[in-house]
Amino acid sequence: MKTVRSISEARRHLQAFRRGGTGLVPTMGALHAGHRALIDAARAECDTVVVSIFVNPAQFDEAADLAAYPRDEERDAAFAADAGVDVLFAPEPDEIYPAGFQTWVDVEELSRGLEGAYRPGHFRGVATVCLKLFNIVQPQFAYFGQKDAQQVAVVRRLVRDLNLDLTVRSVSTVRDPDGLAVSSRNVLLSEAERAAALALPRALSTRDPAAARAALDGLDVDYVEVADFDPPVLAAAVRVGSTRLIDNVILNEEEER
Ligand code: AMP
Repeated sequence: MKTVRSISEARRHLQAFRRGGTGLVPTMGALHAGHRALIDAARAECDTVVVSIFVNPAQFDEAADLAAYPRDEERDAAFAADAGVDVLFAPEPDEIYPAGFQTWVDVEELSRGLEGAYRPGHFRGVATVCLKLFNIVQPQFAYFGQKDAQQVAVVRRLVRDLNLDLTVRSVSTVRDPDGLAVSSRNVLLSEAERAAALALPRALSTRDPAAARAALDGLDVDYVEVADFDPPVLAAAVRVGSTRLIDNVILNEEEER
């Protein structure tokens, strides 16, 4: 596995691979079993698998959240190499956003509800960095987790609206045995908070907004809503201590797990 940090080096290095089919897995690092599922899906259909690790400042609306985000590049590099990743693209923020940067992509309507309502500017940051990563890596396939269902919808719309020549794949949510969706943020939970957080998958498994809301009683709930994505999901966001967790289940589907 080769780690590259500059855009020019990434372009130069990936040129040689492009013909065989390149799959991109965009991440913010702190790699876990959810990321591994995306990498495995890419590995299964692409000759070259690129993982990007970039804690994108533009998609954080709270400075404290950005500062607390877990980072461990050495561990991530070992994790990615073990998963059979060919190229790790790990740029610094000013490589992606050099001085004077001022061009943004806004997927207007899809970015408004749910996460967008609670995290102003979040999807503008996501859409912009994804477009940049797609331009840099030029993958045929890009892999995203169903756990972030609105993100998948936003990225699919971006690809369609701007005629990008790539296919977006969404990969089923990976859960710990207790049902909690695996997330980089889970390491921030104390034991008691983790126990409280289990209400989230339990609530969503009712697949009913009213029942889910009742099951989340006592937690700090941002939203529990049916979202008309393709496929439709029941999505929720809760705050447990200072950690914000999101999750969703696909509706009209028996058991996702
Ligand atoms: P992140 O590093 O949190 O930005 O996530 C990078 C990618 O991994 C996104 O497409 C996420 O949706 C996906 N992902 C995160 N957690 C999971 C999970 N538990 N199952 C499947 N995909 C996930």
